[in-house]
Amino acid sequence: MKTIDDFEVAGLRVLVRADLNVPLDGGRVADDGRIRASLPTLTALTTRGARVIVCAHLGRPGGKPDPRYSLAPVAARLGELLGDRVDLATDPAAAVAALRPGGLVMLENLRFNAAETSQDDVQRGLFADQLAELADLYVADGFGAVHRKHASVYDVALRLPHAAGYLVQAEVAALSRLTADIRRPYVVVLGGAKVADKFDAIGSLITTADRILIGGAMAFPFLAARGGKVGTSLLEADQVDAAGSYLDRAAPGQIELPSDVIAAAQRAAPGQVVAADAIPADQMGLDIGPESAARFAASIAGARTIFWNGPMGVFELAPYAGGTQAVAQAIIGSDAFTVVGGGDTGAAIRALGFPDARFGYVSTGGGASLELIQGKTLPGLAALEES
Ligand code: ADP
Ligand code: MG
Repeated sequence: MKTIDDFEVAGLRVLVRADLNVPLDGGRVADDGRIRASLPTLTALTTRGARVIVCAHLGRPGGKPDPRYSLAPVAARLGELLGDRVDLATDPAAAVAALRPGGLVMLENLRFNAAETSQDDVQRGLFADQLAELADLYVADGFGAVHRKHASVYDVALRLPHAAGYLVQAEVAALSRLTADIRRPYVVVLGGAKVADKFDAIGSLITTADRILIGGAMAFPFLAARGGKVGTSLLEADQVDAAGSYLDRAAPGQIELPSDVIAAAQRAAPGQVVAADAIPADQMGLDIGPESAARFAASIAGARTIFWNGPMGVFELAPYAGGTQAVAQAIIGSDAFTVVGGGDTGAAIRALGFPDARFGYVSTGGGASLELIQGKTLPGLAALEES
């Protein structure tokens, strides 16, 4: 895999696929972690006199322009961090033609074009052709998207000389410590709400991790599979059978579930602690309870390697942040090499006041990091291996 240090980039038009998929709040960037993580590559390129074209996606606009998903707030924040205004190109070809060495321009949300995420190779290829025409070199730095076979991630890499950016390099180096020569015990902590995206990973993690702690909405299919009552908790019914079979396949005690949760009828209401398998019918579990948090913390304390993806509760609301807080605290107190993955998990630790530096490595990718530690081939990385 070539890196940007292998190229003489002065004067070249360099298309950087970044991951700038950040949470917005009222039209402003709520957590700029992914923007900051993109800075080393962008500044290295501009400092060396490249003409930099940054492209990225934001959310799921569904293949058509939608102002709610404009990258404008991201361009504004990137400009603040770079100390120089960043323009969002309305006419990419003209904007690139006007770029001077050391200059930088951003393209609008790639997912405004349905071809970006199309399953159809030809459609994606046509969009990739357009992107490739803008540049002389492609740089893959959007780690959070490298597991997607998308036009800007995969197809365009095959059409241009290509290199990995510093973020992708750092991510791969850190996550490879969770695939080979793993220091044990290896504890995986899973949570969050994007259960469908993450569910398959459990089958593979059962074969590599010594212990899997499951909180967040991820816990409900497992609690339901054991016959627990989960009330109105976030639950995808089709996952209950799969959860049951994971529980059957796991060694005794290998999968650890919450024993208590904080439940409420609505998010706005203050919660009460209830048994995890007896959530009242009109209530939903919004955080792991104190007993579970203590048990999870004890498992974490004995670990030498940890992977954590997904908050333990709705950490955005103070009454439901305790579980996530306890897990973060236990990880910091352990001697383990820890990788924290997932956009919201990274945002959670920062929102709770833990600096990234207190963790071994904070990955910018949720799905991508989960796929990498399962040893899967990721399209965006595989494309970099092609000559
Ligand atoms: P990541 O981005 O780190 O991979 P996810 O996107 O899967 O994490 O999930 C993050 C979201 O999960 C947060 O917004 C949080 O509010 C939500 N969440 C956590 N626990 C629960 C729960 N018990 N019920 C509903 N949502 C939850
Ligand atoms: Mg998320």
